[in-house]
Formats: sequence, C-alpha cells, structure tokens
Amino acid sequence: SSIFAAVEMAPRDPILGLNEAFNADARTTKVNLGVGVYFDDNGKIPLLAAVKAAEETRVKAGLPRGYQPIEGNPAYNSAVQQLLLGKDSALIANGQVITAQALGGTGALKIGADYLKRLNPDAKVYISDPSWENHRALFESAGFVVENYPYYDAATRGVNFDGMKACLKGLNAGSIIVLHACCHNPTGADLNDAQWGEVVAICQERGLVPFLDMAYQGFADGIDADAVAVRAFSASGLQFFASSSFSKNFSLYGERVGALSIVTAGKDESARVLSQVKRVIRTNYSNPPTHGGALVAGVLASAELRAQWEAELAGMRDRIRAMRTGLVDAIKATGCAQDFSFVAQQRGMFSYTGLSAAQVEVMREEFGIYAVSTGRICLAALNTKNLDYVAKAIAAVIK
Ligand code: PMP
Repeated sequence: SSIFAAVEMAPRDPILGLNEAFNADARTTKVNLGVGVYFDDNGKIPLLAAVKAAEETRVKAGLPRGYQPIEGNPAYNSAVQQLLLGKDSALIANGQVITAQALGGTGALKIGADYLKRLNPDAKVYISDPSWENHRALFESAGFVVENYPYYDAATRGVNFDGMKACLKGLNAGSIIVLHACCHNPTGADLNDAQWGEVVAICQERGLVPFLDMAYQGFADGIDADAVAVRAFSASGLQFFASSSFSKNFSLYGERVGALSIVTAGKDESARVLSQVKRVIRTNYSNPPTHGGALVAGVLASAELRAQWEAELAGMRDRIRAMRTGLVDAIKATGCAQDFSFVAQQRGMFSYTGLSAAQVEVMREEFGIYAVSTGRICLAALNTKNLDYVAKAIAAVIK
C-alpha cells in the first residue's frame, strides 16, 4: 500500500478557508472582512508609488541574480534596524543589534523560534490571549510548550492589564514572552506607554525573554510612535528579539519581506549570536530572496522615495481611521442601541467587534459579509461603497 495511505487530512486554516468560501459566493454585494490585508477605497491591494519607483530602477539596472549572504541584504538589514530602534540608536552604534532578512514576519518569527530552542530548550513560550492565530502553532512547531497570558478584556474591550501583569510576574526566568509591538492582532487593543514601561520592568525583574512582533509599524500613529514598545525595551538594557514584517506597511505581501533582529549585550556577543542564527537559516533555506528586500532598501535609502512612502503609509493609516469612525457613525445612524464607539479607539487593521460566532454566521448567510468567527473584522477591507451595507448588517444581526 501507499506510504501515504494512513495520512489524515490536516485541519483547514480558518482564515484561508474563509477566503475560499468568499470566492465561491456568487452575491455581488459580498464583502470579505476576514483577511488581514489592506485594500484601498476601490477594494484593491495598492502597489505603492514609492515601491513602484524603486522597482523600476532595479529592473532597469538589469542586475545578475547571485546569492545573497545568509543573513540577507546588508543595506536592508541596516534600514530595518533604524526603523525599529531609531536612526540615532546607541545600540546600533555599539554593535549590539544583529538583523537577518527573513521571509516575511512569519519567517522572522520562525528563525527566532528555532534559534531560541537551541539557546534555551527548556523555556516555555507565552503568547497573548488571544493572539495572531499562527503564533501558537509556529512556536509549537519549533518544539516549545506554548501557554497564554491574559490580555483581552471583553467587558472593557481593552487590555486586562492587571491580569497580564500578575501572570508575567509569576513566570520562571528565561520564559519567552511574545508581545505585539503595536496594532494587536486580533483585538486592536494596545498597551499605553506607561503600561509598556511596567512590562519592561517586569521582564527585567523576572529575567524574561521578550520577543516583540512588529507586523504593522506605521499603521497606528506613525513609524516612530508605533515603535514605543521597541524603544522602551531598547532603553532598558535587556536583551530581546524583534520580528519585522513589511507585508502591510510596504504592501509587499507576496514578496515575503521581513527580518529578525536581536539585541545583545555587546559587539562580541552579537558576532557569536549572528553566527548561530546563520546556521539556523542555512539549514532551512540557505539565504533569503533578493527582490522584496532590495525594494524596501531602495525606498529607505532615497530621501525622496522615503518621504513618498511615509506619505503613502499615512494615507493607509488615515483611511483605516476614517473607516473606523465611519463604521461607528453608520451603525449609530441605523438607530442601533448598542454603542460601537470602541471601534474608533482600537488600533491597526483589526477590531474585535464583540459579535458572536452565531452572529458572524448570520452576517455570512444573509448578507454575504465574511468575518472570523471570533468576531474579528478587518477595517482595511471597508470602503466608502460597502461601509453602509456592513453597518446595516451589523445592526441587523445584533437586534
Ligand atoms: N505577526 C502578526 C501579529 C501578524 O498579524 C502577521 C500577519 N500579517 C504576521 C506576524 C506575519 O506577517 P507576514 O505576513 O509578513 O509573514
């Protein structure tokens, strides 16, 4: 018999499964609020003008397609460090930061997880409850036991910060804490500056290992404003990990552009840590692809393109904000008694709407509006044409 005869069907990815159902839906009024992708007001994934310009320059140059170094494009890696830590970072100047280009934010998390497993095989990993749906599976597949720390408080639609702190204070030294640096996915609820300061202090006291996941830098308040958590850790003297993704803020999803950065205690340590991270990369995919990283590096190296990118990023951020307030107002305008103003306070692409799985199901069946069964919707999939339709559907299902 076949060596595959006993293979079971793996469960479908919940969000990608939603896309398949959406694509098969014949209704012209259908709306997909399930995916984590930024669409413009016409419902299209934008190709940023700054990216297009960098791409044209690169294509014109007609470069050969040699291998990159194992850790990727040096200009790109250095640009990533500056975005995360600021261009005047003492850590960068001291050689305390290493960065490896990676295949998206996911690839960065996986290289980091594999390296952490070699560094500290007995550590446990703690993720927020709830978290990005891939965090648990990713760290488990690296061999870790993964637990939750309290995070979302459904009653206040904010962070259960006391619960989170109490949990972190009880963890063993060396525990790995995965933190959403900004624009928490899926809840849209972030810590404030003072709370980040407290988390940093707890990590210091308890000897925890922070892993900051930065997938939406620039989607809440701006490049530097959204790096407050990273900057708080960088000022603390702690060692930490950070993953970056440029899928959203450069709209480069399929090019798989991300990076893993690690802050060490000094230059000599950096060299040793980088050498180990390179072994992880070498035995996985040898070295990263060139194109996406070169585009990001090209944009960030040119004052003109960088300004253009920042303006385009601000445009995406402002449009999401406008959809947040627009949704709140449009739901109110239906005469709906429930207050949705929390949607305008949440940050980034997502909102936990508080809709139940049953209500999400009715939205899909009766209105062709697709959302994750947890009630998570992607605000960046709303536009001026579908906003009222979605607002009316939400008002109808919560009656
Ligand atoms: N972390 C979080 C919190 C995410 O939401 C995502 C998905 N955008 C990722 C990591 C993965 O990013 P990428 O698509 O670049 O792999």
